[in-house]
Amino acid sequence: MLSDTIAAISTAVGEAGIAVIRVSGPTAVTEVAHIFRSKTPLSDAQSHTVHYGHIVNPENDEVVEEVLVTVMLAPRSFTTEDVVEISTHGGVISVKRVMDLLLMQDIRLAEPGEFTKRAFLNGRIDLSQAEAVIDLIRSKSDRAFSMALKQVEGALSQRIEALRHTLVETMAHIEVNIDYPEHDVESMTTAFIQDKCTEVMEGITKLLKTAEEGKILREGITTAIVGRPNVGKSSLLNQLAHANRAIVTDIPGTTRDVIEEFVTINNIPLKLLDTAGIRETMDVVEKIGVERSKSAVAEADLILFVLNVNEPLHEDELELMEQMRGRQSIVIMNKMDLAPVVDQDILLRYYSNDLIVPMSVKAQEGVDALEQAISKLFFSGQIESGDLTYVSNVRHIALLKKASRSLQDAYDASEQSIPIDLIQIDVRLAWEQLGEIIGDTAGDSLLDQIFSQFCLGK
Ligand code: GDP
Ligand code: ZN
Repeated sequence: MLSDTIAAISTAVGEAGIAVIRVSGPTAVTEVAHIFRSKTPLSDAQSHTVHYGHIVNPENDEVVEEVLVTVMLAPRSFTTEDVVEISTHGGVISVKRVMDLLLMQDIRLAEPGEFTKRAFLNGRIDLSQAEAVIDLIRSKSDRAFSMALKQVEGALSQRIEALRHTLVETMAHIEVNIDYPEHDVESMTTAFIQDKCTEVMEGITKLLKTAEEGKILREGITTAIVGRPNVGKSSLLNQLAHANRAIVTDIPGTTRDVIEEFVTINNIPLKLLDTAGIRETMDVVEKIGVERSKSAVAEADLILFVLNVNEPLHEDELELMEQMRGRQSIVIMNKMDLAPVVDQDILLRYYSNDLIVPMSVKAQEGVDALEQAISKLFFSGQIESGDLTYVSNVRHIALLKKASRSLQDAYDASEQSIPIDLIQIDVRLAWEQLGEIIGDTAGDSLLDQIFSQFCLGK
């Protein structure tokens, strides 16, 4: 299966300065050489060299494109196979013409993620690293990017390996005791098993703790801006979006009247739920009133509750605050440029001081304080910059939980004088489940599922 040569466009398709076509496989150099003309023949190329020349139709030598060809010979390439990258002019037509010629040679179109899959199957990267490549492509903030990069570099793999190493030791220890089952050795083994299971379960718990933060960093904190009509919700949204807009935004949401806006604040990605009400044009919140805010509150990870300090608290607002108890929320006392009449004592019943942020969106005051409050709420100083080994992938999370359950089974069994070779089965299961995270014990169908998430050409 790995013996054939594959090709795909590796850059985003569309109008661009250049596009890159990647070819990988044992015949990559010779097949590309058929359609490439340059001063020195490509077949003599040294590894890691770039060649200027033309792509031609081999049937009539007609020039199709002017290109740069990069040669990376096995094993020093992304896939560890011979890789040839052809840089063409960007634009759909020129890329397509070169691709068509390539596919007329003994080359087939790569499946999505197939280059990365080969890198994995050839042992250059492990499964969690491969998945991190997906995250790299999709990351929406600097922080998410460095998190994914860490994973690519194998930080998660190392931790998993360490835990598995402990389990292998444990299994070896149990094995000895199955072979030499003297009574006193057996009781020592029970204590040993319980110790080791606890140790690994604690390690798993630590990794799982980072999962929630990891998810947030990858997908953004779902943030709802709520409040009564005219308090300044839309103005706040606009200001946050203009000052902090991260990457492209208008991703259609699940319902027709919700779109997601990504903004990045202190490197924390926020997914602002731009409910129809927040948009001036179709102010549904304004029409439906507090009901809409309530359902937004129910869905959000973070709630920005906006008040107009120039008005006394309204009954709807008291009701909202009641509903938001125990939720991650920040109250924004907007319109501080006007005379404040709002009763702060009531706010203090619901919010601690550092979650009450005076602002004037109009005068652009208080944005820093809001950003600090958001950072503080989510990281509470727990995450040191640089310590970014997060578990962020649902498959990893599920496997970590399974492994932890298997170990708990082993632990429980050891307390009930269950034969030690049965306990061994649970320990082994945990070892396999952890192994699945890094692809050591992963079956084929699992691999296909993972790699199909890649975009073509990666
Ligand atoms: P929404 O209905 O909650 O979305 O409120 P808008 O953002 O549409 O704002 C309602 C009105 O309040 C607009 O005329 C804004 O210009 C004004 N406004 C927003 N923020 C401030 C502020 O900080 N100070 C003052 N004085 N007016 C503001
Ligand atoms: Zn509005």
